Amino acid sequence: MMHTLNPDRLWARIEALARFTRPDLPWTRRAFTPEFAAARAWLAENFAAAGLAAATDAAANLIGRREGSVPGLAPLAVGSHCDTVPAGGRFDGIAGVAAALEIAQSFAEAGIALRHPLEVIDFLSEEPSDYGASCIGSRAMAGTLTPAMLAARNAEDEPLIAAIERVGGIPGALAEPLRRPGEIAAFLELHIEQNTVLESRGEAVGIVSAIVGIHRLRLTVTGRTDHAGSTPMHARHDALVGAARVIDAAHRLAREMTGNPGYVVATVGRIAVSPNAANAIPGRAEMILDLRSTSDDVLARFPRLLREATAPGLAEMDLAFACELITRARPAPCAPEIREALATAARAQGHAALELPSGAGHDAMQIAEIAPVGMVFVPCRGGRSHCPEEWAEAADIAAGAQVLAAALLDLDARLG
Ligand SMILES: [Zn+2]
Repeated sequence: MMHTLNPDRLWARIEALARFTRPDLPWTRRAFTPEFAAARAWLAENFAAAGLAAATDAAANLIGRREGSVPGLAPLAVGSHCDTVPAGGRFDGIAGVAAALEIAQSFAEAGIALRHPLEVIDFLSEEPSDYGASCIGSRAMAGTLTPAMLAARNAEDEPLIAAIERVGGIPGALAEPLRRPGEIAAFLELHIEQNTVLESRGEAVGIVSAIVGIHRLRLTVTGRTDHAGSTPMHARHDALVGAARVIDAAHRLAREMTGNPGYVVATVGRIAVSPNAANAIPGRAEMILDLRSTSDDVLARFPRLLREATAPGLAEMDLAFACELITRARPAPCAPEIREALATAARAQGHAALELPSGAGHDAMQIAEIAPVGMVFVPCRGGRSHCPEEWAEAADIAAGAQVLAAALLDLDARLG
């Protein structure tokens, strides 16, 4: 028996959510703002219409719940986030919340009683917030929201913990993870791909194999500041030339290593040069390297390989090189049983069940700390995301939601 969603209602909800935007900067719905609160109130009404009892948890995640038929089972959870980056899109996160809502409502209307409780979750502030941290709600659930993150302040000097309270959270409860391992049977998230793999293959649905781990490293090249006019070329210790060699080597290494064994990308997106003067040879260059891979081994080996690759070029100018790990998030493999359920559902609905890694972080990455997770990707036009042009087709979102719904029914029957 094939259960069917209502694609028109799903699309109408995506359009309705888009209207909760800063009027001067579409499509902007930053967490903790009035637009966000209005969207949340609208969502809570829609959760009720979908037969879900809606409430916020201690981290101000909005959760709609319907009880299952078997007492004592942990819930099957599905969702994403409804906040956006400034001038972001109408689909990032939103498609996942709307899909989860449509799945819950169509199950209720079809009289489908799950064995497990079903939870639809709109996580608080997945995008990097005005307080620094990202994935605030899912981190709180998994226990990865640190006291330092909670104490960080926005430009108005409000600490994050006060902002969470302002939108319905309970600060005193955030010292402990909100859920323990075993308290979520499985978490599934639909998201736009934010890349062009599905579009280029003509696929409506993709299954995420793993979400990349992210290491941020501070790379510092130190030379010597000298006069830009009177220092001959052979006598220079130019830290910025050294930094250029490091950046190029990181780029080449990531290209060489990708696919062997995992997905690898490396980006230097920030650099500070001192003295940063037109007539002085740079004495010091400090960079942040954003390194992402689905392979823990690649993340661990990369700094040593980078050091080896750059040693001759740096030694030539007598430059010192330091490499310091500043933050790390582990790769989050999607659970084999959920990947399998999604692949079976996708094939049954005529899709190729293409597997692909996620190079972006998602709420599922945090929840993977405490529960098996799986993700469905749907294409977005040109891979564009975090911009007003972000676009996904109604038919693709509906197809992804349909796969997710079928996988949920399968997991409901199989999981304890
Ligand atoms: Zn997102």
